[in-house]
Amino acid sequence: MRRISDSEGGKARVFYANHQEVLLPPTTANRTWMVEITLWSGLEGGGPPRVQEHQIRQADLAWLDSATDDLYYTARAVWETALALGSEDYTGVHLLRLLDDSFRLIDWREPTSPQFETSIKNARAHLDAGLKDMSQTATSRATVVSHSHIDLAWLWRFRHTREKAARSFSTQLRLMEEFPEYRFVQSQPQLYEWLKSDHPELYARIQKAVANNQWEPEGAMWVEADTNLPGGESLARQLLFGMRFFEREFGRRSTMLWLPDAFGYSAALPQLLNQVGIRTFITTKLSWNQYNRMPHDTFWWRGIDGSEVLVHLITTPPDGWENRDRWFTTYNGILTAGTVLASWRHYQDRALHDEVLIAYGYGDGGGVNRDMVEMRRRLDRMPSLPAVEPGSVAQYANRLHERVRESFTPVHTWDGELYLEYHGGTYTSQGHIKFANRQLELTLREAEWLAAWAFHTKPDIWAAAQHQINEAWKILLRNQFHDILPGSSIHEVYQDQRAEFSTAQDAVQTVQREALAALTVLTEDAWILVNSAPWTRSGVVRMEQGSNLRNLRTTNGERPSVQVLEDDVWLYVRDVPGLGSQTLKEASPGTISSGEDLFQWDPIQRHLTTPYYEVRWNAVGQMVRLFDRRADREILAPESIANVFEVLEDNPLDFDAWDIDLFYQDKRWIVDQLTKLEWVGSGPVLAALRLEWTYPGAVIRQTIRWYAADPRIDFDTVIAWHTHHQLLKVAFPVQVRSRVAKPPMLTRRLRQLRPHFVAKIGIR
Ligand SMILES: [Zn+2]
Repeated sequence: MRRISDSEGGKARVFYANHQEVLLPPTTANRTWMVEITLWSGLEGGGPPRVQEHQIRQADLAWLDSATDDLYYTARAVWETALALGSEDYTGVHLLRLLDDSFRLIDWREPTSPQFETSIKNARAHLDAGLKDMSQTATSRATVVSHSHIDLAWLWRFRHTREKAARSFSTQLRLMEEFPEYRFVQSQPQLYEWLKSDHPELYARIQKAVANNQWEPEGAMWVEADTNLPGGESLARQLLFGMRFFEREFGRRSTMLWLPDAFGYSAALPQLLNQVGIRTFITTKLSWNQYNRMPHDTFWWRGIDGSEVLVHLITTPPDGWENRDRWFTTYNGILTAGTVLASWRHYQDRALHDEVLIAYGYGDGGGVNRDMVEMRRRLDRMPSLPAVEPGSVAQYANRLHERVRESFTPVHTWDGELYLEYHGGTYTSQGHIKFANRQLELTLREAEWLAAWAFHTKPDIWAAAQHQINEAWKILLRNQFHDILPGSSIHEVYQDQRAEFSTAQDAVQTVQREALAALTVLTEDAWILVNSAPWTRSGVVRMEQGSNLRNLRTTNGERPSVQVLEDDVWLYVRDVPGLGSQTLKEASPGTISSGEDLFQWDPIQRHLTTPYYEVRWNAVGQMVRLFDRRADREILAPESIANVFEVLEDNPLDFDAWDIDLFYQDKRWIVDQLTKLEWVGSGPVLAALRLEWTYPGAVIRQTIRWYAADPRIDFDTVIAWHTHHQLLKVAFPVQVRSRVAKPPMLTRRLRQLRPHFVAKIGIR
């Protein structure tokens, strides 16, 4: 990155890889200019830093001849259009002839001479006249919005993104000054908030550009988040924090959800979007599907509860991909005749609407440059291309809705999750952040609920606590960004995330503790069980060993079942009210009870009878029978075994951290080196069995627990895994046919109807 500023305090200009020129105003003469060079060598995907050598090969101070510059761009647009239309198209052939005729008029002998200048003007006039003759009213339109997709972290950390955003945004403001028709869209309030604190003067210029309708703050969410892994409340907060920010800072609400790059879209979104008043969703990512192209680019998307939003899939291919077999589209469009024409020709709903949307500009590197704005102006005048007009995404969406309302052409509906047939590995990569994300979500929920409950005690204190809770929410929300939570960032990003999560957890747990202290009176002989769920719960409670814990009574005199197992005390507690609590007190000494053991373990047969199940293991610790005594049926499929650890080869075609390809199941090894099968014990509350297996580079330790008053079975598994390019799965082939599975992280339809039947990874 280089920066150039003048000696008289003029605004600095920034130039770098995708923005290699800076236009200096005519008043430049006789001033001294400072050129500042900052080198960003990258984190190289992490790992130990390497020695690098960088060279500046060329830097010129040049005079721009506007007439020649104009001819260059117009001629380029004509040439590109001719190529895009092809030799079988009459307009294409005609354009090439016109270009030839114009260029024959140029006198190349002595550039900058009066003869050269006159010949350039003549060539330009000839080209203009020819284009005018061929002009026709465009029947279709491409609304182009300039954009810079900024990954909040990925191959770089937050602190680099803060600098990157400032550079990119200052370039965009400069273009707005030089090209009054220029429009720019930018999502992610988190970026704006950083900018506001790092560069308030730049931020003020953005606010002004927003007021002038040149800068469009849009997108609804706090960051462009993953939507598969965050809980429902997090998705709601992404929208709440995002919408509030746009409204407070720019005086406008977002009108659409802008997630061009997230890896698939939860079916919960239409409902949440409707609730914040959003009716439109725009993306490109579904075109990355490995197998199936979506059948429509404009369609209604119906969520879990039946709410609907209108979806538009951007149809712009990357430059050079216009004619490839593999079709995918981009939010980092490059404006050429080829990409504009292909955006229109590949729009599958042309019968419905005669307008497409193109988001153009370099992502993660400054957005649009002058070259693209100049080309936009020329492409707009090319025959046989759609009109290429700058505009706003919100206005594009309004026209699309209007068209859908008025048209007789049917608009189809997609019901349920918008699954991305790609990047299936992002559900498991960097597992620690998935776990930490859910932990922080739950702590936030409990702290917020308790603080709200405690509000009446000291309103000032709890209002201040809400500020701390909100700051922790922001930490969580920004780390749900679509390259962080999915696990596709470099190691350094997760170092930052761990530190941030630990700060957030500490702050929120402090609020939680203080709220509980404000709400309850703790005495030495009492325990208070708090139920944060909104329904009455009965269940097992695990407590650390303490005095007289075996002798507890609830306030209404009931005695919960109690069992000591290894270092813990386990209680079975009934009817703790929803969003409420139950107090347990130590009864007077001398009345310790020992409940009846409700489990039978046969170590020779490796057979267990519980109040709910009959279970049997084989000699390598796998479950060969699981019989449901209440329903009187076998749970496992015939001839099958469960709790089987399978190792599978993990060598995807691309993107190691992102992808699990369908053929990963072709090679399979079973973990069967059982090193421990140990009965831990049983009693009135629970029974537990401990197992341990080894595998080259790995140790798997598992404790399985059954409960006397609850059909739940817990498989508590700790795995030391030091292997490479191997996946571990655990198989439970059950005799249940269901189209939906609900693992703790997400609900996933097991198999979609054709044509998507081959494409879902992970759960089958
Ligand atoms: Zn991205």
